[in-house]
Amino acid sequence: MANETNPKTLQQAIIYFSNPENCRNYLAARRWPKGVICPTCGRDDVSFLEKQNKWQCKSAHKQRQFSVKVGTIFEDSPLGLDKWLPAVWMIVNNKNGKSSYEMAKDLGVTQKTAWFMEHRIRLAMQSGSFEKKLSGRVEVDETYIGGKARNMHFSKRKHLGARDTGKVAVMGLLERHGEVRTMVVAGTKRRMLHDQVSQHVEQGSTVYSEALRSYNQLDQEFIHHVINHAETYVQGHVHTNGIENFWSLLKRSIKGTYISVEPFHLFRYLDEQSFRFNGRKGNDSERFQKAMEQVTGKRLTFKEVTGKLPDDDKLSC
Ligand SMILES: [Zn+2]
Repeated sequence: MANETNPKTLQQAIIYFSNPENCRNYLAARRWPKGVICPTCGRDDVSFLEKQNKWQCKSAHKQRQFSVKVGTIFEDSPLGLDKWLPAVWMIVNNKNGKSSYEMAKDLGVTQKTAWFMEHRIRLAMQSGSFEKKLSGRVEVDETYIGGKARNMHFSKRKHLGARDTGKVAVMGLLERHGEVRTMVVAGTKRRMLHDQVSQHVEQGSTVYSEALRSYNQLDQEFIHHVINHAETYVQGHVHTNGIENFWSLLKRSIKGTYISVEPFHLFRYLDEQSFRFNGRKGNDSERFQKAMEQVTGKRLTFKEVTGKLPDDDKLSC
């Protein structure tokens, strides 16, 4: 799009996206860089219907008319992009995330709606296929998150099963000065951790880890350095300060902003924090653009996101 504007601040984003045409053009330019095509059949000679704010395909098939939201995380939402796009802006740029309570207040929607919006946005923040392995110097570490259920109000706790009350093991791999990857793991058994390192790190790379027993034998595939915490100083490059810094950002966001995160949803908060961390060298506008490039081809229904919650939790978002 020739006359496209990229907002630089939240204030500019709110003003710019208060115009539906700007929202439509901004999103359309990202999902259809070569021009609008029908999401159902791929025809590129579609016509625009001004009144409906939709396009129409010339072929006779279902969903002939489609809006810019079809096939994105925004599909089926009655909320306008004038609310959605500032919501994306806030999550991708607030260092500690944004609680659904705050989001609800800022956008004038219910907290449940804001909660569901945030989960859809986290889906857009999820990394792609991890096709490229980490290399060079890689820090490996694991941590435990959660265990807050005991302090929860009974009305909340009764929705949780026994599996939801404990802490969850999370593994992290950080390429020095590069990307972080995090995953929920079923435990910290050697084989499990090894598999993750092999899957995500190029053979022959230098791997730094703590002296946890589960990490011995890594030296068969990697140059493995173990941190000795008995030493009071950091020995040159041999440390895991980078990934430990990431854990403290993650925990600040989970404890400070989200308060309690159900283990079932934890991976989405990992995606959120990893996205911001991996975009740390960019500015707010660049992080927003990156997220907006990832909203297409992804859907998250309320049923999927709530898992086992009862049907009475229906909402209109
Ligand atoms: Zn079509």
